[in-house]
Amino acid sequence: MAQATVKERPKPYLVPEYCKGCGRCVSVCVKGCIAFDDEINPATGLVPVVLDLTKCNGCGLCIEACPEPYGLREMEAGVDYDLQDPARLFGDKLTTAPEPVDIPPRKIPLPATEPLVIKGNYAAAIGAMLAGCRHMFGYPITPSTEGAELLAKIMPKMGGVFLQAVSEVATVNHMYGTAGAGLPTMTFTSSPGFSLMLEGISYMVGAELPGVFINVMRGGPGLGNIAPEQADIKLACHGLGHGNTHAISLVPSTPQEMLDLTMLAFELSFKYRNPVIVLADGYLGQMTGKVVLPNHQIDPGIPSWAVWGDASHRRNLISSIYITEADLEERNLHLNAKYEAMQVEARSESFMTDDADVVLVACNTPARAAKGAVEALRQRGVKAGLFRPVTIWPFPVEALTPLLPHTRHLVVVEASPGQIADEVRLNMSRAGVTVLPEMSHVRRMGGVLPQQAEIVDHVLALRAH
Ligand code: SF4
Ligand code: SF4
Repeated sequence: MAQATVKERPKPYLVPEYCKGCGRCVSVCVKGCIAFDDEINPATGLVPVVLDLTKCNGCGLCIEACPEPYGLREMEAGVDYDLQDPARLFGDKLTTAPEPVDIPPRKIPLPATEPLVIKGNYAAAIGAMLAGCRHMFGYPITPSTEGAELLAKIMPKMGGVFLQAVSEVATVNHMYGTAGAGLPTMTFTSSPGFSLMLEGISYMVGAELPGVFINVMRGGPGLGNIAPEQADIKLACHGLGHGNTHAISLVPSTPQEMLDLTMLAFELSFKYRNPVIVLADGYLGQMTGKVVLPNHQIDPGIPSWAVWGDASHRRNLISSIYITEADLEERNLHLNAKYEAMQVEARSESFMTDDADVVLVACNTPARAAKGAVEALRQRGVKAGLFRPVTIWPFPVEALTPLLPHTRHLVVVEASPGQIADEVRLNMSRAGVTVLPEMSHVRRMGGVLPQQAEIVDHVLALRAH
């Protein structure tokens, strides 16, 4: 009787440069053939696995588990597997892989619906869903919690991911990874949590990654309280982690804007490959208001730069490391050019400013009290108006400048010890506007908001002098 021959099953092979060290293969191999290396691979900055195939039975489980398109693969006859050059094994990344192209996002029409009456935090969460975000990471914190709560319920039903991370630092790094794959991602946070995310935001800026940070600001410093304060204007405008960092920062003042500006934030973050901050305040996050849904939602695409798991994107690399001084300086010059290009995104709203000789400057919830004060002052014959930045970075200098010649008093109304007034002075000065009208302020802090009556009294007192 002829003896049956047992065909040996192919064993795995790995080019370490294609291993991201996720460890999936380690956990599936019951023979213990795969272990983490103890050295960083200099070509990738990652720690790959090492194979010892003495006990390997060729079951192939590790190959199936490996998510990398050029990761673990079956050994083929006739291939020189001692060769450690990925280009000679699989072809050169830059010449044999197809050129990655942009798969653009699509607008999907939505039928008209009745308006919703919802909290600002819910409005922002719905805006994120409609913008195509399906990856929300967070370490929930009051007064932003309802946003995370709603997305925790909805995201899994929409095929998305909600992950309560172990910390804010983990949150921002989950966002880094997701954004690197070219996917829309976001978080809800509040002031102390935002402070903890700043290092990661700097990394995202350096690596040119999109991501939306909804910061529902609360009273500080320290843990402070959970009441509204415009506590993080300086951080958003000038302190997004170390180095040369800026991000468009939107400052909504109604639940409707919480939705609209969140959708805009996703669009701008992909347009500029940069994080975008939505700076709300605790009152706005909790405030209930009428919200009209848009007539479309977004089906995201895949940008050409994304590290996406297909052949055409294998040439891409996302990193913020530039070891040589000249390279890093060049990178910074590139970022500066991008920040300059972002200046066209400055947005604002002017209310009764055409003939105003008293111009209030306010954003977020304080703008609502300021608007009421303008109406009350007009009834008393005072030519008052409101200038409301919708972006605090870039500051809408070009819209404010034409109002100045007929303005006698510029009154900055804010829930902070002068962070917005500083933005006015700094940005007007940088724009070459060195002579400003007389500036004064109505400021509250610690969770106390400026009230309409005190703004009116302040302006009347100014005019009495
Ligand atoms: S083929 Fe099977 S036995 Fe061999 S390394 Fe992979 S998982 Fe382990
Ligand atoms: S599964 Fe693939 S990418 Fe992950 S550690 Fe193993 S070889 Fe590396």
